[in-house]
Amino acid sequence: MSVEQNLTEIKSQITNACEKAGRNAGDVKLIAVSKTWPAEHVQKAIDAGQKMFGENKLQEGQEKIPVLSQDLEWHYIGGLQRNKVRKVLGLFHIVHSIDSLKLAKYTNNVAADMGVKPSILLQVNIGEEESKGGFLAEELEVSFSELLDLEHVNVTGLMCIPPAVNKPEDARVWFKKVAELGESLEAKYKVKLPHLSMGMSGDFEVAIEEGSTYVRVGTSIFGTR
Ligand SMILES: *Cc1c(COP(=O)(O)O)cnc(C)c1O
Repeated sequence: MSVEQNLTEIKSQITNACEKAGRNAGDVKLIAVSKTWPAEHVQKAIDAGQKMFGENKLQEGQEKIPVLSQDLEWHYIGGLQRNKVRKVLGLFHIVHSIDSLKLAKYTNNVAADMGVKPSILLQVNIGEEESKGGFLAEELEVSFSELLDLEHVNVTGLMCIPPAVNKPEDARVWFKKVAELGESLEAKYKVKLPHLSMGMSGDFEVAIEEGSTYVRVGTSIFGTR
Protein backbone atom coordinates (compact mmCIF):
# COMPACT_ATOMS: atom_id res chain seq x y z
CA MET A 1 0.00 0.00 0.00
CA SER A 2 1.16 3.53 -0.75
CA VAL A 3 1.57 6.25 1.86
CA GLU A 4 -1.52 7.89 0.39
CA GLN A 5 -3.57 4.69 0.71
CA ASN A 6 -2.31 4.17 4.26
CA LEU A 7 -3.40 7.68 5.19
CA THR A 8 -6.84 7.16 3.70
CA GLU A 9 -7.21 3.90 5.62
CA ILE A 10 -6.09 5.40 8.93
CA LYS A 11 -8.37 8.39 8.56
CA SER A 12 -11.34 6.11 8.02
CA GLN A 13 -10.32 4.08 11.09
CA ILE A 14 -10.16 7.32 13.07
CA THR A 15 -13.62 8.31 11.83
CA ASN A 16 -15.01 4.89 12.77
CA ALA A 17 -13.44 4.96 16.23
CA CYS A 18 -14.92 8.43 16.78
CA GLU A 19 -18.34 7.24 15.69
CA LYS A 20 -18.13 4.28 18.02
CA ALA A 21 -17.21 6.61 20.88
CA GLY A 22 -19.78 9.28 20.00
CA ARG A 23 -17.10 11.85 19.26
CA ASN A 24 -16.58 14.31 16.41
CA ALA A 25 -13.94 13.07 13.97
CA GLY A 26 -12.65 16.65 13.77
CA ASP A 27 -11.63 16.51 17.42
CA VAL A 28 -8.94 13.91 16.76
CA LYS A 29 -5.81 15.07 14.97
CA LEU A 30 -3.54 12.67 13.15
CA ILE A 31 0.17 13.29 13.66
CA ALA A 32 2.21 11.46 11.03
CA VAL A 33 5.38 10.32 12.80
CA SER A 34 8.07 10.58 10.15
CA LYS A 35 11.08 9.64 12.30
CA THR A 36 13.84 7.76 10.45
CA TRP A 37 12.26 8.48 7.04
CA PRO A 38 13.96 10.83 4.58
CA ALA A 39 12.26 14.00 3.35
CA GLU A 40 11.36 12.40 -0.01
CA HIS A 41 9.26 9.77 1.76
CA VAL A 42 7.65 12.35 4.04
CA GLN A 43 6.78 14.34 0.92
CA LYS A 44 4.41 11.54 -0.16
CA ALA A 45 2.27 12.23 2.90
CA ILE A 46 2.39 15.97 2.24
CA ASP A 47 1.27 15.33 -1.35
CA ALA A 48 -1.65 13.37 0.09
CA GLY A 49 -2.68 16.41 2.13
CA GLN A 50 -1.14 15.58 5.52
CA LYS A 51 -0.22 18.71 7.52
CA MET A 52 0.82 17.52 10.99
CA PHE A 53 4.06 15.64 11.50
CA GLY A 54 5.97 14.31 14.48
CA GLU A 55 9.67 13.75 15.05
CA ASN A 56 11.47 12.43 18.10
CA LYS A 57 14.95 13.78 17.41
CA LEU A 58 16.11 17.35 16.94
CA GLN A 59 18.63 16.37 14.31
CA GLU A 60 16.00 14.80 12.09
CA GLY A 61 13.87 17.90 12.42
CA GLN A 62 16.85 20.03 11.42
CA GLU A 63 17.29 17.93 8.31
CA LYS A 64 13.67 17.76 7.19
CA ILE A 65 11.70 20.75 8.47
CA PRO A 66 13.60 23.44 6.52
CA VAL A 67 13.40 21.58 3.21
CA LEU A 68 9.73 20.61 3.34
CA SER A 69 6.65 22.75 2.79
CA GLN A 70 6.49 25.66 5.22
CA ASP A 71 2.79 25.32 6.01
CA LEU A 72 3.16 22.15 8.08
CA GLU A 73 2.75 21.79 11.84
CA TRP A 74 5.66 19.98 13.51
CA HIS A 75 5.28 18.18 16.83
CA TYR A 76 8.30 17.24 18.93
CA ILE A 77 7.52 13.91 20.58
CA GLY A 78 10.89 12.60 21.75
CA GLY A 79 12.99 12.84 24.87
CA LEU A 80 14.15 16.43 25.29
CA GLN A 81 17.49 17.41 26.79
CA ARG A 82 18.02 20.93 28.06
CA ASN A 83 20.75 21.72 25.58
CA LYS A 84 18.29 21.03 22.73
CA VAL A 85 15.37 23.13 23.99
CA ARG A 86 16.26 26.35 22.17
CA LYS A 87 16.66 24.66 18.82
CA VAL A 88 13.55 22.55 19.29
CA LEU A 89 11.48 25.67 20.03
CA GLY A 90 12.96 27.33 16.97
CA LEU A 91 11.83 24.53 14.66
CA PHE A 92 8.83 22.77 16.16
CA HIS A 93 5.39 24.20 16.93
CA ILE A 94 4.26 21.95 19.76
CA VAL A 95 6.26 19.90 22.28
CA HIS A 96 4.58 16.73 23.60
CA SER A 97 7.39 15.51 25.78
CA ILE A 98 7.86 17.88 28.70
CA ASP A 99 8.65 15.25 31.30
CA SER A 100 9.61 17.10 34.48
CA LEU A 101 8.93 20.32 36.34
CA LYS A 102 12.57 21.27 35.89
CA LEU A 103 12.38 20.87 32.13
CA ALA A 104 9.09 22.82 32.04
CA LYS A 105 10.67 25.71 33.95
CA TYR A 106 13.75 25.66 31.78
CA THR A 107 11.64 25.61 28.60
CA ASN A 108 9.63 28.53 29.97
CA ASN A 109 12.82 30.55 30.48
CA VAL A 110 14.11 29.78 27.01
CA ALA A 111 10.71 30.66 25.48
CA ALA A 112 10.72 33.97 27.36
CA ASP A 113 14.19 34.72 26.04
CA MET A 114 13.14 33.86 22.48
CA GLY A 115 9.91 35.84 22.73
CA VAL A 116 7.73 32.83 21.89
CA LYS A 117 4.92 31.05 23.72
CA PRO A 118 4.83 27.42 22.62
CA SER A 119 2.08 24.93 23.41
CA ILE A 120 3.40 22.08 25.49
CA LEU A 121 2.01 18.78 26.70
CA LEU A 122 3.13 17.06 29.85
CA GLN A 123 4.37 13.53 29.43
CA VAL A 124 2.96 11.22 32.07
CA ASN A 125 4.72 8.02 33.11
CA ILE A 126 1.37 6.39 33.63
CA GLY A 127 2.71 2.88 34.19
CA GLU A 128 5.31 4.21 36.66
CA GLU A 129 7.99 2.41 34.68
CA GLU A 130 11.63 2.82 35.70
CA SER A 131 12.70 2.82 32.07
CA LYS A 132 10.48 5.73 31.07
CA GLY A 133 10.55 9.43 31.68
CA GLY A 134 7.58 11.54 32.55
CA PHE A 135 5.64 12.94 35.47
CA LEU A 136 4.12 10.52 37.92
CA ALA A 137 0.39 11.15 38.23
CA GLU A 138 0.58 12.06 41.91
CA GLU A 139 3.54 14.34 41.27
CA LEU A 140 1.50 16.21 38.68
CA GLU A 141 -1.45 16.51 41.07
CA VAL A 142 0.75 18.49 43.46
CA SER A 143 3.05 20.41 41.14
CA PHE A 144 0.46 21.44 38.60
CA SER A 145 -0.01 24.96 39.96
CA GLU A 146 3.70 25.62 39.39
CA LEU A 147 3.24 24.55 35.77
CA LEU A 148 0.26 26.84 35.35
CA ASP A 149 2.32 29.74 36.70
CA LEU A 150 4.75 29.47 33.78
CA GLU A 151 3.89 32.48 31.65
CA HIS A 152 5.77 31.67 28.46
CA VAL A 153 4.37 28.23 27.76
CA ASN A 154 0.78 27.09 27.18
CA VAL A 155 0.07 23.81 28.94
CA THR A 156 -2.56 22.26 26.66
CA GLY A 157 -2.70 18.68 27.85
CA LEU A 158 -1.13 15.35 28.68
CA MET A 159 0.82 12.82 26.65
CA CYS A 160 1.61 9.18 27.39
CA ILE A 161 3.45 6.17 26.08
CA PRO A 162 1.80 3.35 28.04
CA PRO A 163 3.54 0.13 29.08
CA ALA A 164 3.95 -2.41 26.28
CA VAL A 165 0.95 -4.73 25.98
CA ASN A 166 0.12 -7.80 23.91
CA LYS A 167 -3.10 -6.53 22.40
CA PRO A 168 -4.44 -3.00 21.89
CA GLU A 169 -7.36 -3.59 24.22
CA ASP A 170 -4.92 -4.03 27.11
CA ALA A 171 -3.71 -0.45 26.67
CA ARG A 172 -7.20 0.86 27.43
CA VAL A 173 -6.69 0.88 31.19
CA TRP A 174 -3.66 3.18 30.77
CA PHE A 175 -5.40 5.56 28.39
CA LYS A 176 -8.31 5.73 30.79
CA LYS A 177 -6.00 6.61 33.66
CA VAL A 178 -4.42 9.46 31.68
CA ALA A 179 -7.84 10.80 30.68
CA GLU A 180 -8.98 10.67 34.29
CA LEU A 181 -5.84 12.45 35.44
CA GLY A 182 -6.55 15.20 32.93
CA GLU A 183 -10.11 15.57 34.19
CA SER A 184 -8.95 15.60 37.79
CA LEU A 185 -6.43 18.38 37.06
CA GLU A 186 -9.05 20.39 35.20
CA ALA A 187 -11.45 20.18 38.13
CA LYS A 188 -8.87 20.79 40.85
CA TYR A 189 -7.09 23.69 39.14
CA LYS A 190 -10.06 25.15 37.22
CA VAL A 191 -8.34 25.03 33.84
CA LYS A 192 -9.02 23.55 30.42
CA LEU A 193 -6.70 20.84 29.18
CA PRO A 194 -8.06 20.25 25.69
CA HIS A 195 -5.47 17.74 24.52
CA LEU A 196 -4.60 14.13 25.19
CA SER A 197 -1.74 12.82 23.07
CA MET A 198 -2.09 9.06 23.13
CA GLY A 199 -2.29 6.17 20.73
CA MET A 200 0.21 4.92 18.14
CA SER A 201 -0.08 2.54 15.14
CA GLY A 202 -1.03 -0.44 17.27
CA ASP A 203 -3.57 1.10 19.58
CA PHE A 204 -4.84 4.47 18.34
CA GLU A 205 -8.44 3.29 17.99
CA VAL A 206 -8.60 2.32 21.66
CA ALA A 207 -6.93 5.61 22.59
CA ILE A 208 -9.59 7.53 20.64
CA GLU A 209 -12.34 5.67 22.47
CA GLU A 210 -10.72 6.88 25.70
CA GLY A 211 -10.52 10.51 24.63
CA SER A 212 -7.30 10.99 22.66
CA THR A 213 -7.13 14.19 20.60
CA TYR A 214 -3.69 13.63 19.06
CA VAL A 215 -2.83 10.18 17.72
CA ARG A 216 0.83 9.70 16.81
CA VAL A 217 1.06 7.20 13.96
CA GLY A 218 4.28 6.24 12.21
CA THR A 219 4.57 2.65 11.00
CA SER A 220 1.02 2.36 9.66
CA ILE A 221 1.59 5.41 7.44
CA PHE A 222 5.21 5.21 6.36
CA GLY A 223 5.97 1.49 6.73
CA THR A 224 8.16 -0.53 9.06
CA ARG A 225 11.25 1.33 10.21
C1 LIG B 1 7.76 6.33 17.09
C2 LIG B 1 6.77 6.99 17.96
C3 LIG B 1 5.40 6.94 17.65
C4 LIG B 1 4.84 6.20 16.45
O1 LIG B 1 4.93 4.82 16.63
P1 LIG B 1 4.37 3.78 15.54
O2 LIG B 1 4.21 2.53 16.33
O3 LIG B 1 5.37 3.68 14.47
O4 LIG B 1 3.07 4.32 15.07
C5 LIG B 1 4.52 7.58 18.49
N1 LIG B 1 4.95 8.26 19.58
C6 LIG B 1 6.25 8.33 19.90
C7 LIG B 1 6.64 9.10 21.12
C8 LIG B 1 7.20 7.70 19.11
O5 LIG B 1 8.50 7.78 19.45
